[in-house]
Amino acid sequence: MSRKVIIVGNWKMNKTAAEAKAFIAEFKPMAESMNNVQVGIAPTFTSLAAAVEAAKGTNIMVGAQNVHWAESGAFTGEISAAMLKEVGVQFVIVGHSERRQYFGETDETVNKRTKAALAAGLDVIVCIGESLEEREGNKTECVLKTQLNGGLAGLSAVDMDKIVIAYEPVWAIGTGKTATPEMADDTQAFCRKVVAEMFGGEVAEKVRIQYGGSMKGDNAAELVAKPNIDGGLIGGASLKAASFAELVNNAING
Ligand code: PEP
Repeated sequence: MSRKVIIVGNWKMNKTAAEAKAFIAEFKPMAESMNNVQVGIAPTFTSLAAAVEAAKGTNIMVGAQNVHWAESGAFTGEISAAMLKEVGVQFVIVGHSERRQYFGETDETVNKRTKAALAAGLDVIVCIGESLEEREGNKTECVLKTQLNGGLAGLSAVDMDKIVIAYEPVWAIGTGKTATPEMADDTQAFCRKVVAEMFGGEVAEKVRIQYGGSMKGDNAAELVAKPNIDGGLIGGASLKAASFAELVNNAING
């Protein structure tokens, strides 16, 4: 089965609304020739409205970097799925390792956020990944299985149509260290096997699994060429329009 490549820039806490608009203005003409790929950006909450407006009529998807699971209420500093939907975003990233590391994200909260986002009609990128200590201790598969079982618990096969999994080894994020294409592919094949155990083979064949962790213009092609790597979640290399475009083009054209 051929799965459409999906490449998303996670801007983290970078770019003001004005900077997001400037990025999209520069990236828009380059995105026009990007066929057979879904391209998205995930700006900060305060830049979302400007980014959605600037991306109107283009093939650039706009998403958020987090969402709360409650519909409304006393959750100071949080944003609900309905609020994101109202702004016009298409997807949300959930469970990024920085959220897990610095903000107490757990598999249970990943699951609650995912369900709230799906209920509001948003697509969800669910991030998973092992630390260096876990990889060196031969715990990678156990960690990923636990994260997938917990994060995707209670979802249906239909829900899974709106889920993308991002496998991001924590030791490769923002470090310049990339998993080798073989290592990433083997690990992502394992993730697909876990999805098959949970939802059946058909869902596992269909679900897209991105790789994330120091993906750049010069390594994107060999990573995305692997059978189990269906795109990328990109941090640093998504912040400049030209380097992000180069990465996307290399990934899809090989
Ligand atoms: C990320 O934060 O999701 C990421 C992959 O970052 P970087 O590309 O900078 O390693």
